[in-house]
Amino acid sequence: MPELMKAIIFQQAGGPDVLEIAEVPVPAVGPGQVLVKQQAIGVNFIDTYHRSGLYPVKLPSRLGMEGAGVVEAVGDGVTRFKAGDLVAYASGPLGAYAEYHAVVADRAVKLPDGVSAEIGAAALLKGMTAEFLLRRCYPVKAGETILVHAAAGGVGSILVQWAKHLGATVIGTAGSEDKARRAKAHGADHVILYRDQDVAAEVRRITDGAGVPVAYDSVGAATFEGTLASLARRGLFVSFGNASGPVPAFEPARLQRAGSLFFTRPTMGDYQVTTQELDESAGALFEVIKSGAVKIEIGQTFRLTQAKTAHEALHGRETVGASLLIP
Ligand code: NDP
Repeated sequence: MPELMKAIIFQQAGGPDVLEIAEVPVPAVGPGQVLVKQQAIGVNFIDTYHRSGLYPVKLPSRLGMEGAGVVEAVGDGVTRFKAGDLVAYASGPLGAYAEYHAVVADRAVKLPDGVSAEIGAAALLKGMTAEFLLRRCYPVKAGETILVHAAAGGVGSILVQWAKHLGATVIGTAGSEDKARRAKAHGADHVILYRDQDVAAEVRRITDGAGVPVAYDSVGAATFEGTLASLARRGLFVSFGNASGPVPAFEPARLQRAGSLFFTRPTMGDYQVTTQELDESAGALFEVIKSGAVKIEIGQTFRLTQAKTAHEALHGRETVGASLLIP
């Protein structure tokens, strides 16, 4: 095993330019950890929040929460894995943007036969997000019509397919004609071009005035008003991301005036507190992948050393499906 490896670091918060390629020591495997020799690294929008300072981290910092590869070494007390296992993980400590990463064994999962490291790194964080959003945050029922923003994106494309699998009618939104076509190919029944069209007016038209019982909004600031106005009476606003910036403060009375609405701001960590919850979520994800109900689209692949380019593409709304870094 080499002593040094390539990793992405940043000294201060900022735009993609703050990302540097560094040579750092290969981490030692601590008790309860496994050392993963990475084959693929998942790029997630949350990485941009860590980098920009929207979600503050201690600086200087490493980056990245998701990766997959082979277990190279096993720390004291680990019984869950052995050297040679193909695993994936989707949680901290930050540092997935590297050739090797030491991760907490209880937060990693073994990839089943037929699921490659690339699919694991493209799917785990985004797919377990879709799992908790559709099955536990708001259990979507067959026959319901739901709204999914950024439907051609990483999480969005999985949400659309899984919601269709559950029997829902899906209204997606997308930032371009090309992305609208992709969202439709993933099964979206209707796609609203939200940069040009009035989302709430379209949702009301499609639902004969009723609105949707649940709206999954990862775009944040830019879509807040449209999402609020798209909900049916007693509907649930699931605000789970900030791609356009965080949702500004609002008066709770607005939920009353818009029809006794509910509002939640969930995060995946709270839906997989225990290893059992993690295993159940990942298990449900692997099931829909293996059955073919959900196809993981790897839209872009970059070298690890091109992390800055990958972040520029995410900010530029140029990506579709998942993005990977390959060490
Ligand atoms: P995506 O691949 O979905 O990329 C984000 C997409 O958001 C873009 O492609 C773009 O699609 C849309 N978008 C709208 N406005 C902007 C903007 N101003 N700048 C950039 N993009 C914009 O990313 P991920 O799949 O990694 O994540 C999707 C969302 O889910 C993120 O907000 C992320 O934070 C959130 N998330 C939340 C989790 C949680 O536990 N709460 C867990 C995982 C992800 P278009 O061009 O079609 O508008």
